[in-house]
Amino acid sequence: MKSPQSEPSASPTPAARPVVIAIDGTSGSGKSTVAKALARHFGFFHVDTGSMYRAVTWHCLQRGADCNDTAAVVRAMREMKSEFRPISGSIVMLLDGADPGEALRSEAVTQNVSLVARVPEVRTLLVAEQRALVRFGSLVMEGRDIGSVVFPETPFKFYVDADPAVRAARRAGDGYADQVTRRDQLDSTRKVSPLVMAPGAFFVDTSRNTQEQTTALVLAELKRRGL
Ligand code: C5P
Repeated sequence: MKSPQSEPSASPTPAARPVVIAIDGTSGSGKSTVAKALARHFGFFHVDTGSMYRAVTWHCLQRGADCNDTAAVVRAMREMKSEFRPISGSIVMLLDGADPGEALRSEAVTQNVSLVARVPEVRTLLVAEQRALVRFGSLVMEGRDIGSVVFPETPFKFYVDADPAVRAARRAGDGYADQVTRRDQLDSTRKVSPLVMAPGAFFVDTSRNTQEQTTALVLAELKRRGL
C-alpha cells in the first residue's frame, strides 16, 4: 500500500497525455499481481475492472434480482449510485458512497458475475466509466476487454494466461473455491466483448514464472514499446 504522499498524481501536466497499460487475461492468471506491480513501478493508478462487474453483481444480489434475468439486472443497475475515488493507488468504485470491499469476493458474487457481465447494457455503462477514468491520470487497467474494446488504441497491451491447473491452484491458494474454467468459458463465449487476445497484445504465460519474472518480462516489453 502506498502512503498518501506517494499517491499517483491526479492531475497530469497539461502537455502529458495519460498513458494506459492494458492487462487482460484469464481468471487466476496472475494479471492482478503484475498490474499492481506495474502501477507501483510507474506511479500510475491501478484499476481492477473485474471489481466493477462484481460491484454491479453485488448490487443486483442485494436487490434480490435474478442475475439470469437481463431485464431485472438492467433495472437494478439503473438504480445504482456509483462514483469513483482514488484510494491507496487504485481507483475504486463506490456504491452509495461506500466501498463494498471483501463482499465483492463472496461466492455468490463470483458465481453470478459472468452472467451480469454478459448483459450489453452493463458493459456499455462500465466501458464508458472505464474510459472516463483517464481524468485521474495514467492508468494500469486490468480486465478481459481492455486492450480489445476499452482502450484499443493503447500500444501497451498484454494478455496474461497460465495452465488451467496452475490457475485453479492459485485461486484455491488465495482462499477461493470458484471454477475458473466455467467462468472463462462464459467470458470467452459471450456475444459482447468476449475475452480475446487483442491485436497487438504481448502474450505472457505465467505458468512457470515467479511474480518477479513476469513483472520483469512485462517491463522489458514496455521498454521495447517506448514506455
Ligand atoms: O477479474 P475478476 O475475476 O474479478 O472478474 C470477474 C468477472 O468480471 C469476470 O469473470 C468477467 O465475467 C467479468 N469481467 C469482464 N470484463 C472485464 C473484467 C471482468 O467481463 N473487463
